Amino acid sequence: MTAIRIGIDLGGTKIEGIALAGSEERFRHRVTTPRDYEGSLAAIVDLVALIEHAMGERGTVGVGIPGMISQRTGVVKNANSTWLIGKPLGAALEERLGRPVRLMNDANCFVLSEATDGAGAGYDCVFGVILGTGVGGGITIGRRVHVGANLIGGEWGHNPLPWPQPAELPGPPCYCGRQGCNETFLSGPGMEHDHRAHTGVSRSTHEIVQAARAGDADAGATLARYHDRLGRGLAAVVNLLDPDVIVLGGGMSNLPGLERAVAEAMRPHVFSDVVDTVVRRNVHGDSSGVRGAAWLWPDEEPAPAH
Ligand SMILES: [Zn+2]
Repeated sequence: MTAIRIGIDLGGTKIEGIALAGSEERFRHRVTTPRDYEGSLAAIVDLVALIEHAMGERGTVGVGIPGMISQRTGVVKNANSTWLIGKPLGAALEERLGRPVRLMNDANCFVLSEATDGAGAGYDCVFGVILGTGVGGGITIGRRVHVGANLIGGEWGHNPLPWPQPAELPGPPCYCGRQGCNETFLSGPGMEHDHRAHTGVSRSTHEIVQAARAGDADAGATLARYHDRLGRGLAAVVNLLDPDVIVLGGGMSNLPGLERAVAEAMRPHVFSDVVDTVVRRNVHGDSSGVRGAAWLWPDEEPAPAH
């Protein structure tokens, strides 16, 4: 019998928990995130207890968080949920749950989920891309997350857009203090800004896609610029990391035909005459974060015997 894996996704508005038996989801529950540290701790502990009661067995616990965990001190840093910053979340959970607990940044959970049993399954090196209100990413090699010395492995959102054209310079200002970051072009708000800058018309990404479908040339041109820029951004990743597969995630990954358009747009910028990099849309969608948290305890490691 396979032991269950519990995955917890600690989000800014909700905490979601699942139980996986192999790749199969057996149980899921979500609660509203308390906006303080003690409350968040208690909510996670209660959620684990609820899942284990429902499943009738004990599981491993992995937690995805919207921030980074310092490998040196074990405390949370750079979290959007500011009440977690500087707190020893991992140690506190281990004490209350009476077992080792693994924590990981949510972008890394996304790529781990897709690398384990999603769009990147069966490939050695996976680059997971998040294209949403922000742009992020993560790297797995052999189904292990490459965290990196500064905990920013795979974070390509604040590199400058590569091979810029004159009209793209210096690029829109970014919240990080720089200008022309990949994120300022490739996030949802980035595409909306680009459409407005070229046409003077404010449209949502959804409206841009609908208009392009209906034959609107301006909207079509906005999509074409987006594809070209994403292709350039990812070609720079390929030239450095050369992953076997790139998995697209986040709300913008739902753009129709994106994976095909990007694979084509990447090609002229990759330093190789043959480009075999596979580009795929994610399989697990919104569940990738919580599934990846569960997979922080991978197959080859048996559940701890407490
Ligand atoms: Zn930036």
